[in-house]
Formats: sequence, structure tokens, C-alpha cells
Amino acid sequence: MDVHEYQAKELLARYGIPVPRGGLAYSPEQASYRCTELGGDAWVVKAQVHSGGRGEAGGVRVCRSDHEVLDAANELFGRRLVTRQAPGGKLVYRIYVEEATDIARELYLALVLDRASEKILVIASPDGGMEIEELAERAPEAVIRSVVEPAVGLTPFQAREIAFAMGLDAGQIAQASKLFQGAYRAFRDLDATLLEINPLVVTGDGELVAVDAKMSFDDNALFRHPEVSELRDRSQEDARESHAADRGLAYVGLDGDIGCMINGAGLAMATMDMIELAGGEPANFLDIGGGASPERVLKAFRAVLNDKAVRVMLINIFAGINRCDWVAKGIVAAFEEIDVSIPVVVRLAGTHVEEGRRILRESGLPIVTADSLSEAAREAVAASRAAVPA
Ligand code: GDP
Ligand code: MN
Repeated sequence: MDVHEYQAKELLARYGIPVPRGGLAYSPEQASYRCTELGGDAWVVKAQVHSGGRGEAGGVRVCRSDHEVLDAANELFGRRLVTRQAPGGKLVYRIYVEEATDIARELYLALVLDRASEKILVIASPDGGMEIEELAERAPEAVIRSVVEPAVGLTPFQAREIAFAMGLDAGQIAQASKLFQGAYRAFRDLDATLLEINPLVVTGDGELVAVDAKMSFDDNALFRHPEVSELRDRSQEDARESHAADRGLAYVGLDGDIGCMINGAGLAMATMDMIELAGGEPANFLDIGGGASPERVLKAFRAVLNDKAVRVMLINIFAGINRCDWVAKGIVAAFEEIDVSIPVVVRLAGTHVEEGRRILRESGLPIVTADSLSEAAREAVAASRAAVPA
């Protein structure tokens, strides 16, 4: 789960990380009120969307008067901000107004969960501001990587070493070391999967400040962090994915038109490949998991049909723990309860397959059955082609 910049900053401030003073606004009037409340003579108006690259998309504006703040906010509110990371655009309905920071240097700092080493990895660079991909391409030698040993955590020595490699001077190293350790504690305590401060700024006065902040959290650990899960903003999520997640389904929305319901992530990947090989495009990746009851199959049906781009449904079940007869019952129930007006291709194999096939046959429903995965993929692609309006 992702959170907004202002929420990440609020969490990080609790761990002693310096952030600029700011206030949230839900309307342009509130935004200009926030700037008078903050005082000073320069502010940054920042669109709150779950995406980076806001600056170059016009979502971050430095303003010198409350009128400028009002104008900037007027322009941003209600708009879909299209960024390099969010080509579909994300709705702006919260704006964060901050006191402007006097930036002398921009650095980069991130903590990520490195799945290869199964450890937290600190990535840092003396050049901040740009995206890390760009940084790694332009100056790969300037990207610092430092793996944290979980048993000891981020030690002061390691933190100082990173700060030194970032080109900070003696006076800033103690400050940076404290900041990195705070970031590490926040990451660990809150079960984050990503924490990115870009830019981490050295101000004209030589102070370190987190001018931008991005955090993502492990969905599987959210149950033990109510203070984080309440920060969820559905308006920023793929509607198909949040619908499915609410129902306990592992679902990833894709861009094609073949809706998929599969058991097991491995089989789902293989099915995506077979669809592509047959010349089609999957609309989603949905794993109904093991031991799927007819109710669960029905829920999955709803989740897939929820996507209006779906023109064909492909169900591929290789039942081990699952039971084909249960899946078949779920399919029949789906036809009874939902208006299924698109072709459905089903391939069943494994436990209770004979019974499953019998249920489908005797239902008299217009289902295309297939014996193998490749046949199922071909049938689905053929049906999606036939369904394309002339
Ligand atoms: P992003 O584009 O979504 O990553 O948004 P950021 O919060 O990182 O802002 C983009 C850029 O705007 C930063 O890299 C800074 O160069 C600039 N910026 C943001 N806040 C301030 C500020 O307070 N003062 C100044 N001078 N520039 C800022
Ligand atoms: Mn940024």
C-alpha cells in the first residue's frame, strides 16, 4: 500500500526526521489560508497523488504570495495529474502547502526491501532530484548501496560511512547519521517495503531536510499497523485491484481483454504467457488460491467482470488442493447470479475433474471447454477476436 507524501512526512517526523512545516488543504481557499497560517514569504504547493515525477508534470509549484498559492491550487484541484509514472493520471483532491526550503544541495536516499539478499538495502547518492533509474544510468559510480544486517540494524558507523560517501561535510555527518537511523527504524517498525527521500536537501544553512518523501507498506503486515492502514486512499488505486483486495483475492489489473481466473501464481504466469503466445492480451492476473469454495469462485467472477474491458473469460484450474467440482459449482452459480454476457472458456484438470466436467456439461450453459492449457488459451484468444466489434 502506498501513502501520500504528507502522510509519509508525518510518519517520518515521528522518527526524528526533519521535514518542512506544512499544512494540508482540500480546497484552493484552504491552501491560501494555510500559507498565511505558516507565515514566511515563499511556499511550495504540492499536489498529493500516489506518483513521483510531479515536479516535471506541474504538480509542484513554488509561490511567492497567497495569490500565487490560490492560483496554483485552483489550477491543480480536481485535475488528473499525468506523470511519467502515472500515464493514466491521478486525481488531485488534496494539496500540501509547505514553507519553501532554501535548497543548496539535493541528495538521494532510499531504503528498499531487497528480495535477493532478504535484507534492507540503503541506496544513496550525492545527486538527488532525478529519479533513481536516471541516476543509475547517468552516474552509476555515484550510487551507494549498503546492505543492513538485520541482527544489528543500521549501525552509527554504517550510517556515517553512507553520509561520507554522499559528500557531506563533518558538521552534517552526525545529523545525517541520526536521520538515516531514524529512517531505518521507521522502515522496520512500520513494515515498509520502500522509503524514498528524494530530494534529501542540504539547506543554505547546512541543515538536512526531507523535501519529498515516499513510503510503501507490506500489505501482509497492515493488520498490525492500524495507524498506517487508515492512511489508505482508494481514489489513487486501480479500482479493479482494490475491489478484489477487499475480497481477499490476489489480483493485478492489466491492459488486455481476456479476463483470467486461475489457481496458483505459477499457473497464472504460465497462462498469461500462453495467451500472449496465442496472440492475445490478458486483462488481469487473478489467483483464486488453493481450496477455492464455490463462493470464492463467484467472488472472483465478479472481480473479473467488474473490468469493462474484459471480452472473454478464461478459467484455468489445475486442482490439487482445489476441487474441480467446487469450481464447476462456482461457475454455475456465477451464471445464475450475474449477467454473464461474454464467452467463457474453461479448462479443468486434477482432483474431481470428471465430476467437475459433468456439472458443467449438465448445466447446459454456453461454456467452451478445453482439455489443455494451450487449447484454452487459443480458444480464449479466438473468442476475444470474434468479440471485437467490427
Ligand atoms: P516529485 O517531482 O513528485 O518527486 O516532487 P518533489 O517533492 O521531489 O519536488 C520536485 C522538485 O521540486 C524537487 O526536486 C525540488 O527541486 C523542487 N522543490 C520542491 N520543494 C521545494 C522547495 O521547498 N524549495 C525549492 N526551491 N524547490 C523545491
Ligand atoms: Mn521527489
